[in-house]
Amino acid sequence: MATEPRIIKFFETTLRDGEQTPGVNYFPEEKLAIARALADMGFDTLDCGFAVSSPGEFECLRLIAREVRNAEICSIARTHISDIDRAWEAVKDAERPVIHPFVGTSPLHRQAKLGKTRAEVLEMARTAVAHGRSLTENVDFALEDSTRTEHDFILEVCEAVLKEGVRFIAICDTVGYALPWEFGQLIADIKREFPQARISAHCHDDLGMAVANALHGLINGAERVDTSFNGLGERAGNAATEELVMAVRTRSANLGLDVRVDSTKIAATSRLVARLSGMQVQWTKSIVGQNAFSHGGGIHQDGVLKDARTYEIMTPESVGLSAADRRMYVGKLSGRAALDDQFHKLGYTLEKEQLNRAFEMAKLLLGKKKTLEEMDLRYIAETAAQPTSPLP
Ligand code: MN
Repeated sequence: MATEPRIIKFFETTLRDGEQTPGVNYFPEEKLAIARALADMGFDTLDCGFAVSSPGEFECLRLIAREVRNAEICSIARTHISDIDRAWEAVKDAERPVIHPFVGTSPLHRQAKLGKTRAEVLEMARTAVAHGRSLTENVDFALEDSTRTEHDFILEVCEAVLKEGVRFIAICDTVGYALPWEFGQLIADIKREFPQARISAHCHDDLGMAVANALHGLINGAERVDTSFNGLGERAGNAATEELVMAVRTRSANLGLDVRVDSTKIAATSRLVARLSGMQVQWTKSIVGQNAFSHGGGIHQDGVLKDARTYEIMTPESVGLSAADRRMYVGKLSGRAALDDQFHKLGYTLEKEQLNRAFEMAKLLLGKKKTLEEMDLRYIAETAAQPTSPLP
């Protein structure tokens, strides 16, 4: 008998790691608009910023905490007591406030960045969680650069923060270095040692493996993933929210996992984030790229026009698009079926002979020009429909 899939949680970081994308700078009303859209989709925790980083950021977090309902509102903090107090001050008015201190745990971060010993970093983690817990029950903690940290030190830090009553522990592939099975093994090892630990997987995409790493984390016992829309984030970005949602939704049976968020709002939220962040989404980007439901090859187009499932594993509707967003690109490699389909959409019905003529004209023009615009298609359709067409 099939068991019920486990529902995964999201720590949505479009507003925090996403804002650390070089070149992104949201205004407060923009952050509020994105926070509302994310809460509306049903994401569990919104990682909204770093309260201590500036007075503006603090005020913005306060605004979101007071205005946005139906989601946990989180501020990150370093392990300093004053940082944690500032984070709490910023989010405490939220329906469900969360504070999330972090510390770099790898040898590189300890020595080169912090100038601290292992014992000192362990103590920083412990006291940060202890102080956080004096303010709220919702204290999550991140081990920055976990994937380059000694295994035994990760376990030591986990043990210390668990003792202090941490809620989620974020295991971070801060630099996008892990391989999926390595990351999965790390989560499995922590869960074996501390079955009670609730783990969030924070994965970056430097080698293009953020989503794969997060999935391996989930199937090895992580309960939550840190993701951002359009894959925004430091350097090559974080695991993309839309990819995690649709990977889990589409392969739910195999993974034994599912999501509770409303996937039909993905397209609209992705566009909102692209507009307000100023970061264009690449055309071939999974799920939300302009081409995610478009087809270029003649064989593919013919298949999709007969039954879209031949070349699509998700429907455009499932991410909030419609059949009209399924573009049949008329190019050098496309076929008569796509051309006919485009003509129909523009209101032309051509006979077989006329279509053959139009097809020849289109191919001729595509020897000179990269793409055919609506104007070109109209010209071709109208010319080919005339019995005395001067062109082949
Ligand atoms: Mn990060």
